[in-house]
Amino acid sequence: MKKHVLVTGGAGYIGSHACKRLFEDGYQPVIYDNLSTGHDWAVKWGPLVLGDLLEKEILESVFNDYQPVAVLHFAACGLVEESVRDPEKYIRNNIDGSKVLIDVIKAKKCPVMVFSSSCTLYGNVEQSVLDESLPVQPINPYGETKLAVENILAEERQAGGLNSIALRYFNAAGADPEGEIGEDHDPETHLIPRVISAALGQLPEVKIFGDDYPTEDGSCVRDYIHVSDLAVAHVTAMEKLITGELPPAINLGAGIGSSVKDVVACVKKISGRDFPVKIGPRRDGDPAALVADTALAQKELSWSSQYSDLETVVGTAWQWHQNQNA
Ligand code: UDP
Repeated sequence: MKKHVLVTGGAGYIGSHACKRLFEDGYQPVIYDNLSTGHDWAVKWGPLVLGDLLEKEILESVFNDYQPVAVLHFAACGLVEESVRDPEKYIRNNIDGSKVLIDVIKAKKCPVMVFSSSCTLYGNVEQSVLDESLPVQPINPYGETKLAVENILAEERQAGGLNSIALRYFNAAGADPEGEIGEDHDPETHLIPRVISAALGQLPEVKIFGDDYPTEDGSCVRDYIHVSDLAVAHVTAMEKLITGELPPAINLGAGIGSSVKDVVACVKKISGRDFPVKIGPRRDGDPAALVADTALAQKELSWSSQYSDLETVVGTAWQWHQNQNA
């Protein structure tokens, strides 16, 4: 019989790609999602249990029914601006919800958890290439909630109750290369889908948030990692934790910096469409450049990105959005 893996937030963007990968690698994902931001159409590789992290009884029954060998924990609220407006919501869903999940995991003696964390934890840093040895100092409530859960997991590791890892993503982007699933947020704030929407005529223009940064072309530089590369890293981390140890946190990025202007040019090239681009003011809280040092991921997970060159990231995303639009 296939081994079950519980995937919280498995109907969401990154979670659903992880489910596909788990299934391809011979596991049976069990999706736990309240569908607040996830989609039932993204649940394709296992059963969906509708529930919230705060609903302890439903969670307990999932563990009783499926006896998962591990948990991939994606379910969380993830909008920085919203977290500033409504920090209570983020404390409740991201911290309190994770605490309930961790309690149930321990009570049911499931040994392994892979936690979805973020490079937001590093806050406003001086350097542009970030490794895991940097101090963590989040600058918004969303980042605070990710740090709080990492800290709880660190305590649990020390107490020997739960073997876990926090995977700190840079900018997740792209879509399943086979076109089965992709990104669909509402509201959509992320750069690549917004630029694609402009190419599809769904937005009147692209606004570049600042072109006076100390970067090569003046626009912000980010590390866009393909969502299918993230999915592989999760399954690998899970397998390593089942048989051994990993460091408490690992960065997941492509290790490549692309500017906002690079992304706009790439979408124009891949789509073959032109659209208006305007320069706007800087967006509050945006650091000039964030790129992952991927050495630890390579060493500990024997992992390197396969799809995370900008053309593949944009190309798969373009394909997905074009099909959705058709
Ligand atoms: N950005 C932009 N215009 C947009 C959306 C985003 O110029 O319509 C910029 C944003 O300021 C940042 C980069 O694109 O420098 C990536 O932003 P995104 O929101 O995708 O991810 P973040 O890095 O904020 O997590």
